[in-house]
Amino acid sequence: MQSQEIRKQFLAFFENKKHTIVPSAPMVIKDDPTLMFTNAGMNQFKEFFLGNKKPKNSRVTDTQKCLRVSGKHNDLEEVGKDTYHHTMFEMLGNWSFGDYFKKEAIQWAWELLTEVFKVDKDMLYVTIFEGDEKEGLQRDTEAYDIWKEFISEDRILNGNKKDNFWEMGEQGPCGPCSEIHVDIRSAEEKAKVPGKDLVNKDHPEVIEVWNLVFIQFNRKADSSLEELPAQHIDTGMGFERLCMVLQNKKSNYDTDVFTPLIREIETITNSKYGKEEEIDIAIRVIADHVRAVSFAIADGQLPSNTGAGYVIRRILRRAIRYGFTFLNEKEPFIYKLVDTLENQMHEAFPELRSQKGIIENVIKEEEHSFLRTLDQGLQLLDNVIAGSKSKTISGKKAFELYDTYGFPIDLTALILSEKGFELDTESFDVELQKQKERSRKATKIETGDWHELIEDDEEEFVGYDMLQTKVKITRYRKVTSKKDGEMYQLVFNLTPFYPEGGGQVGDKGYLEAPNGDVTYILDTKKENNLIIHYTRNLPVNLNATFEAVVDLDSRNNTAANHTATHLLHQGLRTVLGTHVEQKGSLVKADYLRFDFSHYAKVTTDELKQVEEFVNARIREQLPLEENRNIPYQQALNEGAVALFGEKYGDTVRTIKFGESMELCGGTHVKNTADIWHFVITSESAVAAGVRRIEAISAEGAKQYFESQSEAYDKVLAVLKTKNDPIKVITSLQEENMALKKEIEALQKEKAKGLKQEIRNGLEDVNGVKFLAQKVDLDQAALKDMAFELGSEFKNLFALFASENNGKAMLTCYISKELVAEKELNAGQVVRELGKLIQGGGGGQPFFATAGGKNPGGIPEVLEKAKTYIL
Ligand code: ATP
Ligand code: MG
Repeated sequence: MQSQEIRKQFLAFFENKKHTIVPSAPMVIKDDPTLMFTNAGMNQFKEFFLGNKKPKNSRVTDTQKCLRVSGKHNDLEEVGKDTYHHTMFEMLGNWSFGDYFKKEAIQWAWELLTEVFKVDKDMLYVTIFEGDEKEGLQRDTEAYDIWKEFISEDRILNGNKKDNFWEMGEQGPCGPCSEIHVDIRSAEEKAKVPGKDLVNKDHPEVIEVWNLVFIQFNRKADSSLEELPAQHIDTGMGFERLCMVLQNKKSNYDTDVFTPLIREIETITNSKYGKEEEIDIAIRVIADHVRAVSFAIADGQLPSNTGAGYVIRRILRRAIRYGFTFLNEKEPFIYKLVDTLENQMHEAFPELRSQKGIIENVIKEEEHSFLRTLDQGLQLLDNVIAGSKSKTISGKKAFELYDTYGFPIDLTALILSEKGFELDTESFDVELQKQKERSRKATKIETGDWHELIEDDEEEFVGYDMLQTKVKITRYRKVTSKKDGEMYQLVFNLTPFYPEGGGQVGDKGYLEAPNGDVTYILDTKKENNLIIHYTRNLPVNLNATFEAVVDLDSRNNTAANHTATHLLHQGLRTVLGTHVEQKGSLVKADYLRFDFSHYAKVTTDELKQVEEFVNARIREQLPLEENRNIPYQQALNEGAVALFGEKYGDTVRTIKFGESMELCGGTHVKNTADIWHFVITSESAVAAGVRRIEAISAEGAKQYFESQSEAYDKVLAVLKTKNDPIKVITSLQEENMALKKEIEALQKEKAKGLKQEIRNGLEDVNGVKFLAQKVDLDQAALKDMAFELGSEFKNLFALFASENNGKAMLTCYISKELVAEKELNAGQVVRELGKLIQGGGGGQPFFATAGGKNPGGIPEVLEKAKTYIL
């Protein structure tokens, strides 16, 4: 059965059992500080389990793009080396939110595998949680009793907390689980060792395919477990592993999910899969990583130097490095695989098709730059080897290469061993550990448990209509981090504060207690479904009713910049074309930033047109047309622009100003006239095919014009003119040009005189025309002079010293004949003599220059010069 069909049948099976099929959430997570990437199907439903949000459907099913490369679930180092762990994989799941529990979950999983997919029952084993004394948890006899209805009891195995108690991270929903394992070994192998001895033992042919998790606890900050108000089902089946079983393969990479990519890698790199282990690993790494990186970019996460972007960059670099070392690929090639990937996956994941161009561009550019880094690293490593007295290279040096140049440590070790050197891995590990400790300390956040004051189901956001209202605090907790110190997070029953999101920063403001006490709100953010207000202190009376007040100025300016961002987006699509897509934005009170796909620098003329486009919409005084509750599909049909990698609900909010219509949750002006004026302040590149525009509007634009006007007044004052500074400046420039010419002529005159003087000063020493002299000429004139003398005499050794602005310069010319005959080298001369003026330099054997900061050394230089020909 083809993989496409397997995916469809899974979803159809659960749809039949009254589950609603929902789309995969983005793989890159934007509103949860505890998680960078989706690492399991349950992430997007976490709030349902915790009871912070009510699901619309109590049964859903989906295939979720997951990435396990950081945090609690990190498989990166395994990937490629084994045949069944990926960085990015699809997790097929069915979910019950307080609806059915263990019985149905087990029964249906069994039915699907053995009756629909017809997996041989003799290949299957299941595990149940054996209990854990320390946690005070009992053995899961309930699951055991259900399983034995379907499978013989000797195939039901006990599992410990590590394997059979599922947790998403340090905190959050969790519970015992029951896994289904398949034994795909040959009959011969099976006869030797029974499958049940190999379950959960990292055997590549006895592997877990499906995990049924019975969510019933919440892991709290102090690591204690708390019963959840309801019980839920969360199942996850690895799609690629399922395909392996159903297609009778021994490796995920032999299924049709991967074979097209592997064929393409073989073709491009002229290599063969399945012959040599090292090459196979490299091919698997590349086939796997190109998927992870492409999906991340499609989700809007570009490789970068920090956070999630850095993780993506590291994955791609791992692939490049394997290609470089084992497939001998020294030019970018991974980007060429995107075409194959897109062909294969676009049906289930249409974002791959629409984002293909940018994915290819970004990967290609990253490959280029990392290959350059590798090149540099190789040279640096050569230097390290050349400068080493012993056969062991210190870990500190290797760490420097790794840390500052991103040069992979395994590559360092490999190259060293090829050259008969050894890496001191112990001291490398020490350095690495030190660095990890530093960054852990810097980023560590301690999050306390919530203190609930009032029970409340949903914290309503009223900030589209009100900037001030009465609120009560429903819960709060303390968070401590190195960066921000101690802060409190407050949740209200309702709030006028806009939480950071959609590029727009969070509102600031204050809470006022009835007795006039004020607590400042420093920032507002959304975490999953809660709107969280940050304060330095807790209000004295937590139970009071507060007046919550949003800072008006900063909100208004932010709104102006947000509306301006929409108009800018529209303007760019109008002027540059509809290939322009938003790739990120930042909307603050004082300015806005907008990243978008476009393949060339935006010209000054185009920028002017875009700016004029936006200002024309402002002059048109377009009113805001807002629809807070419109079905997603209808909004798209009406022409609203949606962003990839954003998570949209069934109903969405649309923001329309004239022809500009976007899905957006941000705050906006009531009329474009409120933006007052729009000015683009810069245009630059962020990545291959991604440009960035920064701009200002409203108060920011006003201040900009005011300061321009002030500067203009100052210019007039300095120029002592009332009205036409251009005329004055032009005449100053002309005068300046004329003076320059005059100086040049005088310099030439002077040089002529000097030349004669210098010729007279030439000494005959050992058959060499020798000269060492301090000369008052600039660099260019000195060079001319040296070359002129050089063409006159075939046995010249000339050393000129000059002084300019407190710096010393040396210029050395040695006739080529002399260079050969006496083995002289001007480069070496200036390097050695340069030390006397506290500087250095170099050049060619016949001509070289040096600069230094100590003119006081010049007399000694002139004295020493002669020693070279004695
Ligand atoms: P394993 O022990 O094999 O690493 P796991 O216990 O980490 O698996 P779960 O967290 O229970 O797996 O995830 C549910 C399912 O997702 C697994 O049964 C497996 O089929 C699949 N899965 C987990 N990690 C990966 C991965 N890195 N690549 C591909 N599939 C995976
Ligand atoms: Mg795992």
